[in-house]
Amino acid sequence: MHWMKAFAAALALAALAPSAAAQDFPPPAKILFASEAAPSAGPPQSFGFYTKGCIAGAEALPIDGPNWQAMRLSRNRRFGHPDTIALIERLAGDAAQYDGWPGLLVGDISQPRGGPMLSGHASHQVGLDADIWLNPMPDRRLTLREREDISAVSVLKNDGTLFVDPEKFTPAHQRLIMRAASYPEVQRIFVHPGIKKAICEDWTGDRSNLAKVRPYYGHHYHFHIRLFCRDGSPGCKAQNAVDMKDDGCGEHLAWWLSDEPWAPAKPVTPPKKPEKPAPKPTRPAYTILSDLPAACTGVLEAPAPSPLPAAAVTPKIPLPPLAPWPEIGPVPQPRPAE
Ligand SMILES: [Zn+2]
Repeated sequence: MHWMKAFAAALALAALAPSAAAQDFPPPAKILFASEAAPSAGPPQSFGFYTKGCIAGAEALPIDGPNWQAMRLSRNRRFGHPDTIALIERLAGDAAQYDGWPGLLVGDISQPRGGPMLSGHASHQVGLDADIWLNPMPDRRLTLREREDISAVSVLKNDGTLFVDPEKFTPAHQRLIMRAASYPEVQRIFVHPGIKKAICEDWTGDRSNLAKVRPYYGHHYHFHIRLFCRDGSPGCKAQNAVDMKDDGCGEHLAWWLSDEPWAPAKPVTPPKKPEKPAPKPTRPAYTILSDLPAACTGVLEAPAPSPLPAAAVTPKIPLPPLAPWPEIGPVPQPRPAE
């Protein structure tokens, strides 16, 4: 076992309740995948579904390009299927050339070998999902530290409603999202319902790809691009098709703008005291490696490309500036020797 994996597994076990450790459950799959610093060597191949899978042979998005900058580099989630990376680069160029969008700030794609993550998303596991910030790229290179610290800005009104603020969500934002939806590789795009509403109302161009722009929770700081399974990935599980005949601006959007999706979950009634003690769990409650497609075990064990492509190396990110030393006042002088 690779020492990182062994270390991760030990950490995982230490973090679990003693009863679970005593049963010798395997570590959470997310710890195994988050411990991988480099992709596996070989041809690209996605295994499983967007929310339960992994990717072999992933490529890194270079941290800087002519019209993009990758953000939050410390998370090491700028890896994806080469088609995903190519699509981001193409969108960055097209949006700058045609849509008045100066460049992309690129958020999470996938971990080097995909798989579940320690925080953040359920999807992004097979290298076919990418988050693009809704703030335009500034006209300078952000420092590595800034890429950790700068916050994305919500495009919603600041009044608790579901509507976008037209000062923050502009026609250029709409052009960027519709440009992404226009690519045939794109299966769907997730946006906040308020964003979908604004595009439904305002968009006067070709509406044939509007159906791909799907309302969902969150997604008002970034939008999310999902590609179809790619050729050469027979183990990639497709998502149900978008109904391209319905632009989604009618009933579907009305439901998202109603109270129903936002109602608090019904309180769970506490179960009656069981008469018999609950049976011992035979598996942990978290996702383990064997819950993923069998090929993902091989993806974890495979060697990294040698040498590692330069784009896949994440530079050292400087720590945040230290707080100044506190003033400690005059220091007593030692007495002169007698
Ligand atoms: Zn996302």
